[in-house]
Amino acid sequence: MVFPFPTGLDFSVEMKEEYEIFRKSVRAFAEKEIEPLVKDIEKSNTIPPSLLKKAAEQGYLGLGIPEKYGGQGTDMMYITLFVEEVSRICPAFTVATLIHSLFSFPIFAYGTEEQRMKYLPQIAKGEKHAAHATTEPGAGTDVAGIETTAKKVDGGWLINGRKYFISGADKADYFIVLARTSPPPSRKERHLGLTFFIVERETPGLRVGEKIEVIGIRGSHPNEVILDNVHVPDENVVGAEGKGFKIAMETYDHGRIGVAAQAVGVAQACFEKTLQYSLQRRAFEKPLIYFQAVQFHVSEMLTMLEAARLMLYWSATLANKNKPEAAMAASMAKIFATEVAEKAALKAITVHGGIGVASDGLVERFLRDTQVFKIYEGTNDIQKLVILRQMMRTTFGMDVD
Ligand SMILES: Cc1cc2nc3c(=O)[nH]c(=O)nc-3n(C[C@H](O)[C@H](O)[C@H](O)COP(=O)(O)OP(=O)(O)OC[C@H]3O[C@@H](n4cnc5c(N)ncnc54)[C@H](O)[C@@H]3O)c2cc1C
Repeated sequence: MVFPFPTGLDFSVEMKEEYEIFRKSVRAFAEKEIEPLVKDIEKSNTIPPSLLKKAAEQGYLGLGIPEKYGGQGTDMMYITLFVEEVSRICPAFTVATLIHSLFSFPIFAYGTEEQRMKYLPQIAKGEKHAAHATTEPGAGTDVAGIETTAKKVDGGWLINGRKYFISGADKADYFIVLARTSPPPSRKERHLGLTFFIVERETPGLRVGEKIEVIGIRGSHPNEVILDNVHVPDENVVGAEGKGFKIAMETYDHGRIGVAAQAVGVAQACFEKTLQYSLQRRAFEKPLIYFQAVQFHVSEMLTMLEAARLMLYWSATLANKNKPEAAMAASMAKIFATEVAEKAALKAITVHGGIGVASDGLVERFLRDTQVFKIYEGTNDIQKLVILRQMMRTTFGMDVD
């Protein structure tokens, strides 16, 4: 036993030849199709729809969706490698695919067969886009504190509320929306009484409101979403009524691996750009790489990067094996990799000197991206609580909520 893990075998990372072939093809796609547009994406704060179409043609939008529903399967390592490789060039682009997972995961894990057949193939093919709407102006971390309500009416539900920070809302054809359907039975059970609904864009009363400008991952901006007497039929309820909190938490456990992958991609980019710059930029008649202070920065970046990558692949391997420790590992990978990416971006700026802070420069955008990574899919501080609670539950069967 490697306390608190049952065995040292839990630390294995499963890499296969096929994964590396896939990585190569994603890298080629990212460098050929996305890299030339990065400056425009940063400036316009939008991803060109033509680019999403090209990704869909490659099957990348179907990652995480079972083949039965038109996707590429649910192997977590493929999703991880896709997000890592694309984030090395443009992390914002991967938000589109990660949000698709936040919509499709609850549907294939908890939805009805009719819902799966109706929504997943269109999402997998990139014919339709989706968004995940949990956060509100008054409740982010505290999911159970949401105020959006869904009231039972004849043949369906009437949803009222305001969602905030909803990524991809401007492009979304479908939303998965969390609403309170009954009051919590007690203060300790605030998480009960929440339910997920599928809401289609054209439903009367749904409106995509203000665009929220965020410092990082420019290209994927969130919006507010207003639901004013939105009527949805009974068949749009996802999973059991009142069990939305559990579905949300399980969905985010998967999503966190995606954020760790974004962070590893960014740390990789910072490392490569710094090494390249230190070989080519000269000071005092020699390239920067000959100065010991610069050598320290570069080797520290590489060390941190590979440690983060190992944690990322380890958490993806545990998720693929459906191990109970997978959620804890995803939280650890998210904290560690996002902090590594932040440190790598700071080091990259240091070694690049003035160019490092030029706003149309090569590296400053990565530091801004890392600030978002540390917040969404559950802040890093909240991940620390998740890790502790999971460890106490799986190791001692004890709840410390
Ligand atoms: C760019 C971006 C995109 C997003 N996309 C989506 C999306 O598509 N869909 C969606 O539903 N949401 C989305 N979000 C929302 C995101 O999930 C929340 O911002 C995040 O969960 C934090 O919630 P909050 O902003 O309300 O912060 P708060 O919950 O108000 O937290 C503020 C601070 O208090 C700390 N804190 C809160 N509670 C505790 C506690 N119990 N113990 C210790 N510290 C605590 C937090 O760690 C944080 O530091 C997005 C956010 C951003 C920035």
